[in-house]
Amino acid sequence: MLILISGCRNNPEVEYDLVIKNVNLIDGTGTSIQKAVTIAIDNKQIVAIGSESDLNASKIIDGSDKFLMPGLFDCHVHTGDFKEDFANLIHYGITSIFVPGGSRCTNTYYAAMRLMSKQDSTPAPRVFHTSQHFTMEGRHPAKTYGGFNRTHGENIFYLKDTTQIEELVKQVAQYPILGIKITIEDGPAPPFVERIPQRFVDKTVREASKYDLEVYAHISDNIELEMAVKAGVQNLVHYTGVNIDPNNNVHLNWIETLRDQDVSWVTTLMIDKSFLYPLHPEWFDEEAMLPKYKQAKEMLNPDRVNRAKNIAEALKYEYDLEESTFMSFVDHHVTDVHFLYDYGINMVLGSDTGNDFNFHGYSLHEEMQILELGGMKPIDIIKMGTLNAAKMMKSDDRLGSIEVGKLADMILLDKNPLESIRNCLSIHTVVKNGVIQQRVTE
Ligand SMILES: [Zn+2]
Repeated sequence: MLILISGCRNNPEVEYDLVIKNVNLIDGTGTSIQKAVTIAIDNKQIVAIGSESDLNASKIIDGSDKFLMPGLFDCHVHTGDFKEDFANLIHYGITSIFVPGGSRCTNTYYAAMRLMSKQDSTPAPRVFHTSQHFTMEGRHPAKTYGGFNRTHGENIFYLKDTTQIEELVKQVAQYPILGIKITIEDGPAPPFVERIPQRFVDKTVREASKYDLEVYAHISDNIELEMAVKAGVQNLVHYTGVNIDPNNNVHLNWIETLRDQDVSWVTTLMIDKSFLYPLHPEWFDEEAMLPKYKQAKEMLNPDRVNRAKNIAEALKYEYDLEESTFMSFVDHHVTDVHFLYDYGINMVLGSDTGNDFNFHGYSLHEEMQILELGGMKPIDIIKMGTLNAAKMMKSDDRLGSIEVGKLADMILLDKNPLESIRNCLSIHTVVKNGVIQQRVTE
C-alpha cells in the first residue's frame, strides 16, 4: 500500500521545480535527523516532504549521503558594500540577514538592499532591518566610533528630549522596518560616554507599540540590560558584555521577565574577535579562510593595534583572562548563552559582521564553532540560526525550518552538521526561494 505524506502526489504528470531525493533532513525545529526523505519544491515553496522519491522535477538532486538544513540567518549584520557582502553571505549558506542600523543605513541604502534581496538570480540574502539608530549627540556610537559621517535624520537620530520621539517613530514607521533601533550602550571601552536616560527608552517602546513595532536595543553590560528589561524592550542585539550569574536572584528576575515577554537575544560573540584580532592574529589562523585572513593581516596597522589594546585591557579586567586563547576570552559568555537557551530565552545567532576582521558569511560559522567548543549541541546551535532567528524576524510562519508550506531556503551539506558544527561549512548547494544560488567559487 502506498502512503502519501503531506501532499506528496504520486502523479508522474506533476513536475516540480526542484526535488531533493533521499536526503538526511535536519528541519531546524530542533527535532532529530530524518533519514531518506524526499523534498519537493514548487513556486518557491516546500510543497511535499515524504518517503516517496519517484517525483518529476525540472531539477533533481540526489541527496543520498547528504544533509539538508534550513538556510542560516545572521541576525546582526552591517555592510559597507552590500553587493560584495551579499555574495559572500550566500556563499556561506546565510539566506537571511538582519541589519540593526549602521553608518551607511540611510533610507536610500536600505531601499537598495531590499531591492536586491527580493530577486533570486544574483546572490543576495533576504534582508530584515530596523530604523536608523535612536541615540543622543556625544553618545554611542556617534562619539565612540568616530570616522563616519553621521547626519541626524539620515543615518542616525539624535534625541534631545522625549517629546521628539512620538514624531520620529511615526516618521520611521512609514518604512518596512521590523522596529526601532535604540542604543543604550555607553561605548565599548573607556572613556565611556553617558547612557541614554531610562525615560527615552521607555517612551520609545511605548511609541513603537502604537505602530506594532518592536524595539531592538543595543546593550553591553548588566546596567543596560536592566534598563532594557524595565522599559519592556523586545529584542537585544548583543550578548557581549553582559554577565549573568545563575545564583543571583536579581539576574534571575530579569531573565524570567525576558522569557515571559518572549524577548529575543542575539549572541554576537564575534565582536570580541573584531577587537582581539589585531593583538592575537595567531588565535584565529584558519585554513578554510586563508585568503581572507591574509587580507586581514594586511589591514593590521599601529592604529588598529592601539585601539585593540585599549579595548582588550578593559575586557581583560572584566573577564579575568587566564589562558591565552580566544575560547578562554569568550568561554564565560558561551556558558551564559547556553544557560539562557536552556532557560527558554529565544537565543539567536548573529556575528556583528562588518566590524574589523569579522567576515561576512564566514564569521557566523566561527560564531557557531565557538558555541560548540563551549559545550552547546549542534542541533541547538542550528535552531538558534534558523527557527529562533525567523521568530525574531517575525517570519517563522514562512521561514526558519524545512516544513511544508514554508519558503524553500535551504543548504545541502556533504557532511553531518550534528557530528560537528564545522560541517556546516561543507556546503554543496545553497537554495533561496527555491532557486539554486551561485556561490563565489563556482
Ligand atoms: Zn552592530
